[in-house]
Amino acid sequence: MHSKRTLIVANWKMNMTVGQSSQLAANMHKTISGHRDIEVVIAPSFLSLQPLSLEIDRRRFRLASQNGHEIDEGGYTGEVSFAMMRDLVHYSIIGHSSRRIYFAETNKQIRDKVAACIRNGISPILCIGETAAEKAEGHTRQVVHDQLTVALSNVTPEDLHNVVIAYEPVWAITTFGGKTSNPEDIKKMFSYIRAQLTDLYGEKAAGRVRLLYGGSADNTNAGGYLALEDCDGLLVGSASLNYHKFAGIVDIAYKINRSRSDD
Ligand code: PEP
Repeated sequence: MHSKRTLIVANWKMNMTVGQSSQLAANMHKTISGHRDIEVVIAPSFLSLQPLSLEIDRRRFRLASQNGHEIDEGGYTGEVSFAMMRDLVHYSIIGHSSRRIYFAETNKQIRDKVAACIRNGISPILCIGETAAEKAEGHTRQVVHDQLTVALSNVTPEDLHNVVIAYEPVWAITTFGGKTSNPEDIKKMFSYIRAQLTDLYGEKAAGRVRLLYGGSADNTNAGGYLALEDCDGLLVGSASLNYHKFAGIVDIAYKINRSRSDD
């Protein structure tokens, strides 16, 4: 079942200068061991993508952007398009709750960003998840359903395996409160998301999609999420700024994969 590579993504958000980012990447090289079954991805600021692309060992780390513009080129002052990042990044984080909440990104805009990623050979890491208020009103599944179906509406069955889904309950993300989530509840949401994907694309295609969890994951709780049958990795914010913690998460993922392959 777990033939997919586990994906551990470091979302550095709007932190660190270019020099500090290079230093953190260098420390990650020293502390994180390479494992064939684990893919480690760094999402630095736009400014650091180019220097890091030259500095990192690409067999050990891949790069992601944290955003991008859905149109390939034109008079959009201050924006960076996915077309511009084509050869620089493997992944792009799309529809992160920071983007939805602070920059009012809509599901339709996110749909167009997902399509732009695929058009430009970049795998979108599509973030979905309910806010605290939506959860309190009992709308979690409806919200996640709508985010998923709209964002994927231009993705063909052939392209689906390039899409990664990150389920990030907004209330569990450090920036928005960082409440502890219960892996048992996350398990239910993963099953729900997988069922939605199956409805849209069939079981085989849905089974190939990697499902990540995100929300205050660190080296003390990562095992609880990674051990879930349906969990293919983690999207890590705050803890990714600390290379000891982040290396600890990668180690946990490795140990869980080892124990699975021994079974
Ligand atoms: C995130 O920003 O995607 C995230 C999960 O952040 P944190 O780990 O800090 O909650």
